[in-house]
Amino acid sequence: DILREERSRYLADEKRIKAVTVCFADLEGRLHMLDYDKKFLLKSADNLTFDGSSIRGFSRQAESDLRLAIDWAAFYWLPADVFGPGKVLVFGEVLEPDGTPYQADMRSRLKRYVDDLFRREGLICYVATEVEGFLFQGQHAEQRYRETDRFEFITTSGYYHSLPGDSLRLFIDTAAEVQRAMGFANEKDHPEVAPSQFEMNYSYTEAPIAADQVLLYKLVCRQVAHKMGMTASFLPKPVTGVNGSGMHTNLSIARGDTNLFHDPAGRDSISAFGWNFINRILHNARDLCLILNSSVNAYRRLDPHYEAPNEIKASPVDRGAMIRIPIGNARSARIEVRSIAPDANPYLAIYALLRTGLEGSEGQITDSYQSLGILPDNIYDALDSFRSSAWISAIMGEDVAMRFAAAKQSSADRCPRLLGTVIKRAEIQFH
Ligand code: GLN
Ligand code: MG
Ligand code: MG
Ligand code: MG
Repeated sequence: DILREERSRYLADEKRIKAVTVCFADLEGRLHMLDYDKKFLLKSADNLTFDGSSIRGFSRQAESDLRLAIDWAAFYWLPADVFGPGKVLVFGEVLEPDGTPYQADMRSRLKRYVDDLFRREGLICYVATEVEGFLFQGQHAEQRYRETDRFEFITTSGYYHSLPGDSLRLFIDTAAEVQRAMGFANEKDHPEVAPSQFEMNYSYTEAPIAADQVLLYKLVCRQVAHKMGMTASFLPKPVTGVNGSGMHTNLSIARGDTNLFHDPAGRDSISAFGWNFINRILHNARDLCLILNSSVNAYRRLDPHYEAPNEIKASPVDRGAMIRIPIGNARSARIEVRSIAPDANPYLAIYALLRTGLEGSEGQITDSYQSLGILPDNIYDALDSFRSSAWISAIMGEDVAMRFAAAKQSSADRCPRLLGTVIKRAEIQFH
């Protein structure tokens, strides 16, 4: 295709570029990257293979070789001062040896779903995530936590304010500048409510790009923090007694220029189409919970006293509701799903929310402002709902759903317990 030709020619001609970093995510949403020499990649782009058996949640031994196809649309420059000289980054699509899409690659699952929606019905899915994170002292704060049992803040500054010469502000400025250079449509950034906590926001964009940006955001933050002698952490609840980190996910659906969620005559200016979308998510919320909150630690975050809602309902005002309806106009009408943690697989989470909102069962909901109860408060209850859900099997495929559950179960089981309670220290995972 044209994009491929154009970008290959650009790579061939641009003497400053030496290597191409190809990224993909495993079933749990961890970013994997490998660097190809530019000349080799240009020659072999149709024949890239890797050993899938070493990637968690991917193939079993017998089917270990997988193919990687370049997605030339997902192409990013990597600023040299942070990533080293001469590199660009692209995302790859994981394929079976025969070239068909690999079922556990949620990125291509999401892409195919939204492409299909557009082809069949002219629908466009827009997403904007708000990823929060913490900045801690030392380059290996997450490893050090295991020994010392503590994370050390680098600043005490809180919501929207920063102290002179504050390293949190310096970090945010640098990371935001890197993201601009990579082509993100930055909108705003700020210190968050908890000490040493940050958030950067981008304009809404099509769903697959928004999911790529989540992984790139975390990559950039980690890289910039490391350069500054610190650690950027996306653990949902690294420190008790202060807010955790969420990944609010804003969703809207359009046809052409028309935002289908907007109707000035609708309740809170949301259309009937939008209300159906909300009801379907609420009705299936318990089954989806493991996808949105997929670590032991994520359940420590879900506490409305710390602005992390666990109540299955929608509300324009109550931030204890899992879905908030922000004030919107014809352009910005959207829903904000708040009960999602930043260590979720963004492709899977967005795919599951879109598919459920558009096609899931609505049950008998008559008033989405009425609470339907609360989300599971621990990962084992979430695993039970997930495993017994026919809807989850239908949208993920039985085999992939069970692989996902097995991966989550085994990380949960690795956390040592004291009198049946998970000991916090052991939950530290690297996302
Ligand atoms: N940090 C909160 C959370 O865990 C959100 C705070 C906010 O953005 N208002 O979701
Ligand atoms: Mg925000
Ligand atoms: Mg926030
Ligand atoms: Mg928000």
